[in-house]
Amino acid sequence: MDKSPDFYFPAPRSSNYCGQCGTPITRRVPPGDNRERDLCEHCGAINYQNPRLVVGTLPVWEDKILLCLRAIEPRANTWTLPAGFMELAETTGEGALRETREEAGVEVALGKLYTVIDIPMVDQIHVYFLASASNGNVDPGPESLEAKYYGFDEIPWENLSFRSVSSTLKHYLNDVKTGQFDTRYYSLEPSR
Ligand SMILES: [Zn+2]
Repeated sequence: MDKSPDFYFPAPRSSNYCGQCGTPITRRVPPGDNRERDLCEHCGAINYQNPRLVVGTLPVWEDKILLCLRAIEPRANTWTLPAGFMELAETTGEGALRETREEAGVEVALGKLYTVIDIPMVDQIHVYFLASASNGNVDPGPESLEAKYYGFDEIPWENLSFRSVSSTLKHYLNDVKTGQFDTRYYSLEPSR
């Protein structure tokens, strides 16, 4: 039974005040729109909210996979693939490399796009790239207590951070057996 939760912290649903003029916001369907938005009756500004992208890597070195022990919430003290929220003005690949550098202190060569995971219940999309490291060095940053390469049969399944991490790892270990690493696109449903 996989008890890992599904997500990084979701975005706050709204601010109470208009970001343009400070007037308390209203939540209603704007003219010509088809869903409720946070809008300002004073200046007309609409605060559109959209899903956020989490980008990361599955770094491999000599038949071992790099995992990081999270130092921060959510899910502190659990093991994760290096990943985090994409920043403005970067590509998905750049974000995945940056998170790997920040969390593990590891420079990897980016491989193929591997998993694209919709998590509509928290308005997130998690994207993992395959990646390869040229040596086993790690230098975990402040968001990680530890970074470590695990053998394929050593993965700490009982203490993984997120379902997107465990499912991506399961796909990879299955693909190692077949030698065919197809890109996968799927959704996570709420846990029962
Ligand atoms: Zn306003």
